[in-house]
Amino acid sequence: MTISIIGAGPSGIEAASVLAKQGMAVTLFEKDPSPLKNIADKAFLFPNFAAASEIVEQLNKKLMTPNITQRLDCGITGMEREEHGWKLTDSKGETHYSDIVVMATGYTPFDARRKEELGYGIYGGVVTSLEMEKMIRYDKIVNSMGETPKRVVFLQCVGSRDEKTGNHYCSKVCCVTAVKQAIELKKRMPDTEVYVFYMDLRMWGQHFEELYRESQQDYGVRYVRGRISEASGTFDGRVQVKAEDTLMGLPLKMTTDLLVLMVGMEASEGTRCLAKEAGICGEYGFAQSVDPHLGDCLTAENGLFVCGACKRPMSINDAVNDGRSAALAVLDSIN
Ligand code: SF4
Repeated sequence: MTISIIGAGPSGIEAASVLAKQGMAVTLFEKDPSPLKNIADKAFLFPNFAAASEIVEQLNKKLMTPNITQRLDCGITGMEREEHGWKLTDSKGETHYSDIVVMATGYTPFDARRKEELGYGIYGGVVTSLEMEKMIRYDKIVNSMGETPKRVVFLQCVGSRDEKTGNHYCSKVCCVTAVKQAIELKKRMPDTEVYVFYMDLRMWGQHFEELYRESQQDYGVRYVRGRISEASGTFDGRVQVKAEDTLMGLPLKMTTDLLVLMVGMEASEGTRCLAKEAGICGEYGFAQSVDPHLGDCLTAENGLFVCGACKRPMSINDAVNDGRSAALAVLDSIN
């Protein structure tokens, strides 16, 4: 029985680990030179501020078993249905035959340049949530002039819940990420004003609501219900935003040192291509499972399983749990 897992993110690693513990030999393909690229530059994870580096270390440890063969820097670029199983082609042109394939190809962050009006890539003071995460991780939170920011504005739902980009869905993790990052900023720079502009805040997980309240009561983060329609640069390297406060019904302008765009999650290129080739491409290019309630890791194709953020936006802990579910679904199909 040959099992291939495509993608060494949290769900792919967890699936590989569970299968390996059950005595199955697994080949784990990853297009990047090392696993867990989307977590590696994160600082702390919500809701408990666990160090991302520790989670990465623990997940990497799960790969240290002879039952898992890692093929890093080796993306799967094509897959075809064979009579019994799947034929996979990797980025080096090699072919692999596998009875079972678990797709764990993950997501890609929304490219903020597509929202031209927000000035990302034009003004140095406009950064993405991923860049803010790196600033926090490496303790270098500065504006475009290399100075400590006096004011930071977060903008929610960039590339999600948005007619213009065609992404109508919610990316699920960016609300709580903004709350977490806002707290991180205030811990390090208590005198910096921090604002979060939101449509509505989605604190869906355990302890998220408490984190949101804490950010206001203990750290003085200010929340404004409204959308920023435009950002432009000022002569001194700052950013001016035009917005509407939808609670007050008032247009407003504000100048900030940093505008942080909370970018959403989209299906990665690998997810789109492979889901299409395998005939399981769903809405927005994400992979489609057979049933969200009772078959969320199963697909309409025999021997093909899906897990993690290749199906929809997902938090890291949800992705890990989903990887475990996919492994159990694989075992169930074999027995
Ligand atoms: S999680 Fe929050 S910021 Fe992200 S898309 Fe949903 S509502 Fe918008």
